[in-house]
Amino acid sequence: MQVPPFSLGEQLRQLGDALDTAVLEVLRSGQYIGGATIVRFEHDFAASCAAPHAIGCNSGTDALILALRGLGIGPGDEVITCSFSFFATAEAISAVGATPVFVDVDEDTYLIALDRIEAAITPATRALLPVHLFGQAVDMERLCAIAAAHELHVIEDCAQATGAHWAGRPVGSWGDAGCFSFFPTKNLGAAGDGGAVTCRDPQLAQRLRELAVHGMPRRYLHTALGYNSRLDALQAAVLNVKLPHLPGWVERRRAIAARYQRELADLPGVQLPTSGGEGHSWNQFVVRVPQCPARSAACGGGCTPSADSATFGLPEACCRDWLKQQLQDQGVSTIIYYPIPIHRQPAYAELGYGPGSLPVTERLCSEVLSLPIFPELTVEQQGQVIRVLRQLVSCPAAVAG
Ligand SMILES: *Cc1c(COP(=O)(O)O)cnc(C)c1O
Repeated sequence: MQVPPFSLGEQLRQLGDALDTAVLEVLRSGQYIGGATIVRFEHDFAASCAAPHAIGCNSGTDALILALRGLGIGPGDEVITCSFSFFATAEAISAVGATPVFVDVDEDTYLIALDRIEAAITPATRALLPVHLFGQAVDMERLCAIAAAHELHVIEDCAQATGAHWAGRPVGSWGDAGCFSFFPTKNLGAAGDGGAVTCRDPQLAQRLRELAVHGMPRRYLHTALGYNSRLDALQAAVLNVKLPHLPGWVERRRAIAARYQRELADLPGVQLPTSGGEGHSWNQFVVRVPQCPARSAACGGGCTPSADSATFGLPEACCRDWLKQQLQDQGVSTIIYYPIPIHRQPAYAELGYGPGSLPVTERLCSEVLSLPIFPELTVEQQGQVIRVLRQLVSCPAAVAG
């Protein structure tokens, strides 16, 4: 049996008729841009996030760019974020002309280290951009308190955390703006690219709407240089069908995560993620492989150093890479989010973050491995992941030490 890292097949089967009908309705209506389908989605999505406003746009990346622009952030400004994230988090900051300032992440949560933020604040700092990585919410009470004390904006990167909450309050409702992605593998996925920004302030909502359509408050009047970044009606129709299922899907992700936690708890050499509290929406279940489960020759001889570690000045990743390959050989596909931290990417060489500048982030990039987790993962498939992992890690020689 093959276990994929992600699969849409079963979800499409479950939604089949409803999706077909919704998509055909839009096709036949001829209303592809704007209209009631979009209005309905924006309304329902805002409600699901406990936010007064949601503005649909082209992608999660655009959602970040629109939020930054909407809050007036641009050249000369600094935005504090983390380097252990998808590249778009920092790329959006650079796209508006501002400079990303990276703070290391917390060893246990993999999220921005709150106690390191204040040391990174300078007179040029305008905003904090926390990432709810892998579906786990940052402690937004503490983060917002830091922002308030220094009069900084807060922009939440909620791309991986649709359906997550902190202290019972959904992500995207805490900051000045919340940025969501509907990329197909996210918790709420469209049939292509899509995104949304949530916010409280009606004036910001209006600015965001205008920026997303060429800075155009009314037809052919342009008061700002904006973008062409709309959520189209076909994507909104798909999302309208899927949105009511989101709470159930997130519950399923939580149940899968809980089973991994239970049945892998005593595994030597593999470090499980922290429980993340009840608000975790488990877009990914990310374990760490700090040492080789295969150190002993009886287990197959160990691993060979990887080229990437040397090239990007990162800690050796061969143990994690070895386990990934072994799992793959037995039909279990895993993914590495992310092998190279943003601050060590060639595109950001000019920022000057050398090897060792963000040690926790760099170590995580060499140790993390995401196990299959998606709502339609079957009990049998998850059983196979657990069985294979246990066999690989608990081989007799390793146990004997
Ligand atoms: C996916 C993702 C984005 C970008 O979303 P797109 O819709 O792919 O543009 C931004 N930040 C994080 C953390 C993401 O995972």
